[in-house]
Amino acid sequence: MRVPLIAGNWKMNTTVSEAIELVNEMRPGLDEITNVDKVICPPFISLAPVRELIEGSSIKLGAQNIYFEERGAYTGEISPLMLADLCEFVIIGHSERRQYFSETGDIVNKKIQAALRAGLKPILCIGERLEENEAGRTEEVVTEQLRSSLAGIDYLSSLTIAYEPVWAIGTGKAATGEQSNETISLIRHNISQQYGKRIADDLRILYGGSVTAENAAEFINQPEIDGALVGGASLKAAEFLSIVKQTSEIKQ
Ligand code: PEP
Repeated sequence: MRVPLIAGNWKMNTTVSEAIELVNEMRPGLDEITNVDKVICPPFISLAPVRELIEGSSIKLGAQNIYFEERGAYTGEISPLMLADLCEFVIIGHSERRQYFSETGDIVNKKIQAALRAGLKPILCIGERLEENEAGRTEEVVTEQLRSSLAGIDYLSSLTIAYEPVWAIGTGKAATGEQSNETISLIRHNISQQYGKRIADDLRILYGGSVTAENAAEFINQPEIDGALVGGASLKAAEFLSIVKQTSEIKQ
């Protein structure tokens, strides 16, 4: 039985005081729901204050990125060791990082390895771009992303995968539940071939891309979809809570 997971990616939004306000708004409602893992991923500078606010609650904390070196002269970067002290999860390979910060499969792979070494739980994002989708290349693209991201990694038990079609992120144009279920099933099949059925059956795979309180059930109702990575809608406490509540009811 896979425990469903809803993660909120706040992206480059919220000042520290806004993050504090948002988490204070969310905490009581989220805390009541016990059959879903709830992860919030504020910007780096808000991790420490948010961590204090959620102490003793069932809300888990994640970062949005990581660097793969442990320490040294890498001005502006945040290392796995620093994060391991603060949070449990880390988003790796988000399409915005691939697109705007030139993250390649090789970099994503190094980040996953570094996160696992530090005891962090990576949420690996993969997904095809619009032109790849239209050319019928989704399977090929996600297969290659899996191959490059997971090269040399034989331990998947703390990994979560988020299937996020790039054309659905932040566009308000979500995929359909059925489409996503199909691609996620393919991802699971791929993992099964590489790592065995038991590991594939235990692996949580989320959908991400314009999930809202209105459309969340369409995704969560799918048998292969174990939750969602939520961007825009995770910045509204009531809406994020509604997505978590719906997940709790559907997956019980
Ligand atoms: C994301 O940031 O991973 C995401 C899916 O964003 P949005 O929900 O805004 O499309």
